[in-house]
Amino acid sequence: MLADNLRQVEENINTACIRRGRKREEITLVAVSKTKPVTMLQEIYDCGIRNFGENKVQEICEKRDELPKDINWHMIGHLQRNKVKYIIGDVALIHSVDTYRLAEEINIQAKKIKRIVPVLIEVNIAREATKFGISREETLQLVTEISKLDSIRIEGLMTIAPFVENPEDNRAYFREIKELSVDIAAKNIDNVSMDILSMGMTGDYMVAIEEGATIVRVGTGIFGARNYNK
Ligand SMILES: *Cc1c(COP(=O)(O)O)cnc(C)c1O
Repeated sequence: MLADNLRQVEENINTACIRRGRKREEITLVAVSKTKPVTMLQEIYDCGIRNFGENKVQEICEKRDELPKDINWHMIGHLQRNKVKYIIGDVALIHSVDTYRLAEEINIQAKKIKRIVPVLIEVNIAREATKFGISREETLQLVTEISKLDSIRIEGLMTIAPFVENPEDNRAYFREIKELSVDIAAKNIDNVSMDILSMGMTGDYMVAIEEGATIVRVGTGIFGARNYNK
C-alpha cells in the first residue's frame, strides 16, 4: 500500500517536471516520516527511498539505530540549541536554521566532530506568526553573518508555505522564495550556495516543483495521515 502511495507521488513529481521542462534528477524527494513506526520507514526504504525527514531530535536518534546506515536524515523541524549535539553526526542536512545563535551552536558541534555541516536557512515567507523562520527582508543579512562560520555551509533556503485547500494559493510564495534565492546567489557570498530550495509538501509539491523546488518534503502523501493522539 505504501508502495502505491509512493508510486503516485513519483508520478506527480514527473508530471510537474514535464510541465516545466525540468529533469527528474533535479528534485530530491524527502519522505517525511515523523510519528511513523520504523516498519513503515523500512517499507519505503525497500522501495528505494534513502532520504527521510524528521522534525524531532529524539525521533531521529531512535530511528537511526534501527534502520540501515545509508539513510540520509533530514532535520526539518525547529531545532533547540541544546539538542544539536545529539544529531550533528547523523544528519545529511539541517533545513531549519533561522537564527545566528543556532548556527553558532551547529558550528561548535560540527568543529568537534571535524565536519562541515550543510544547512538551509528557513524563511517564513508568508509571515505566519505560528511558524518559525526568518523574514524575507532579514534573510540576506543572516546568510552573510552565518557564512563566516567555518564549519557550516549554507546550501540554500527552505520554507513551509501556509496550509491551503488550493495549492495555487501558494504559487506566489514559492516564486518569491525562488527570487530571493536568485538574488542572494547573485551576491556571490563566500561559503554560500543557493543550489537547494526545499519547498512543497503533500498539498502543494507539484506547484513547488513548477516554481523551482529542488527538495520536496512529502509526509501524508506517502505514509498517510498522522495520528498525534497515540
Ligand atoms: C510534517 C512536515 C512536512 C510534511 O507534511 P505533509 O503535509 O504530511 O506532507 C513537510 N515539512 C515539514 C517542515 C514538516 O514539519
